[in-house]
Amino acid sequence: MSNEQYDIVVRRARLRGGGDACHDVAVSDGRIAEVAASVEATGRQEIDAGGGLVTESFVNTHLHLCKVWTLGRMDELALRDYHGEGMGKAMAAIETAREVKRRLGLDDMIRAARRAAALAALHGNLHIRALADVDSIAGVEGVKALIAVREAFRGVVDIQVTAFPQDGIVKDPGTDRLMREAMALGADVVGGIPWIEYSDDESASHIAFCFDLAREFDKDVSMLLDDAGDASLRTLEMMALEAHRRGWHGRALAHHCRAMSEYPLPYFYRLVETLKRAGVAVVSDPHTGPLHARVKELMESGVLVSIGQDDISDAYYPFGRNNMLEVAFLASHLLWMTTRSEIDRLYDMVTVDAARSINIAGHRLAPGNAANLVVLDQPDELEALRFHAAPRHVISHGRVVDTRQMAAIARDDAH
Ligand SMILES: [Zn+2]
Repeated sequence: MSNEQYDIVVRRARLRGGGDACHDVAVSDGRIAEVAASVEATGRQEIDAGGGLVTESFVNTHLHLCKVWTLGRMDELALRDYHGEGMGKAMAAIETAREVKRRLGLDDMIRAARRAAALAALHGNLHIRALADVDSIAGVEGVKALIAVREAFRGVVDIQVTAFPQDGIVKDPGTDRLMREAMALGADVVGGIPWIEYSDDESASHIAFCFDLAREFDKDVSMLLDDAGDASLRTLEMMALEAHRRGWHGRALAHHCRAMSEYPLPYFYRLVETLKRAGVAVVSDPHTGPLHARVKELMESGVLVSIGQDDISDAYYPFGRNNMLEVAFLASHLLWMTTRSEIDRLYDMVTVDAARSINIAGHRLAPGNAANLVVLDQPDELEALRFHAAPRHVISHGRVVDTRQMAAIARDDAH
C-alpha cells in the first residue's frame, strides 16, 4: 500500500453507537473512503481525534438568513408581540418586522448572511435550508442576496435558498409574480406561509399556488404553518393533504406548526396519520417561541422531525450562532428530552434526520458517502450537548474547513 493514499485520515475516533471502541476514518476525493478499527494507509492530512466523537456534520433545516443581525435596526416591539400573550399577536410581529425591510439594502443582507454562514462553518453546520423573503417591499432582493452567499460558500456550507412569501401571497398583491421570478433566478425551494392569509379559502389558494410553482420548477416545498397560539389554525393539515394529492411525498417540509400544541388529541393523532401518508416532515424551533410542535409525540408516531435555528438576532429571537448543538441543548430542556436515548434522538434531529428532511442524500458516516464530518472534543452525544462547543475540526466535502478564514468572516473583519 502506497504512502499518502488518502487525503485525510482521522484516527482514534469514537463513532455513534460504537461505544468506547475507536476507529479510523479515511477520506479521499470528497468521499468517505474507509472506516476501520485501524486504517493502514496514511493521509496527506492526519487528524488525531483522541477518542472524541466523529459524526456526520450538522444540518439546519430552518433559518431566516436574509434577516440575520437585523435586531439592532428596530425597537423591540416585534419581539414583544411575537412572544407575548400566548403568541396571540404573532401576526402583528410580522407587520412590525416588515418595517425593517424598508431600510435593508442588498449589501447589508449579503454581509450579514456571510457572517452567519461563516459561523455555521465554524460550528460544523454544513447544510442550511435558508429562507429569503419575497414580498412587494423587498421584491426579490433577499433571494439575490442569499444566492450570492450560496455561491460564495459553495463547497464549504451548502445553502438551499427558499423563496419565502413572508407577507402572504393573496394578501400581498404581486407576490405571485415575484415568487416565479425568484424561482427563475435560481432559488432551490418554494416557500410558503399560508396561515397568515385572511381566510381558509385564501390559505388554500396560497398552498395551491406554491405546489403549482413547485411542479413548474420541479422543486421541494417548505412552508411556515400555524405559527400562533390558535387551535383553529389548520394549514398544516391543508398542506399535507395537498402534498398527498399532488404526489409530493417526501418533498414538503412543515415549519413551526406551533398551534399543534393546542390541538385536541383526537385531531392531533388523525393529523399524524395525514403527515405520514403524505411523507411530510416537521421542523420545530422550540427556543424561538413559547409554544412548539409536539416533537416527542410526532417522533414517537414515526413522523420525521428535525429542529432548526430559525433566527439569528432578528425581530423574533435575539441570540443564535448557527450552532446546532446549542439548538439541541436548548431543545432538550424545552421538550424535556433528557434520557440517553432522547439525547441520541436530538442528535439525529440536527444531523441525519435533518438531512433526510431536506433531501440531502447519503448523509451518513459510511464509506462512499460525502465526507461532511465533525470531530468533537467530547466522547459522546450527552457530553457534546453539555458543552455545545465548536468542533475541533470540521471536514466539508472532503476538505478541512479553514477556521481562521471563517472566523475572520464571522467577526466581519473585512469591514
Ligand atoms: Zn421561522
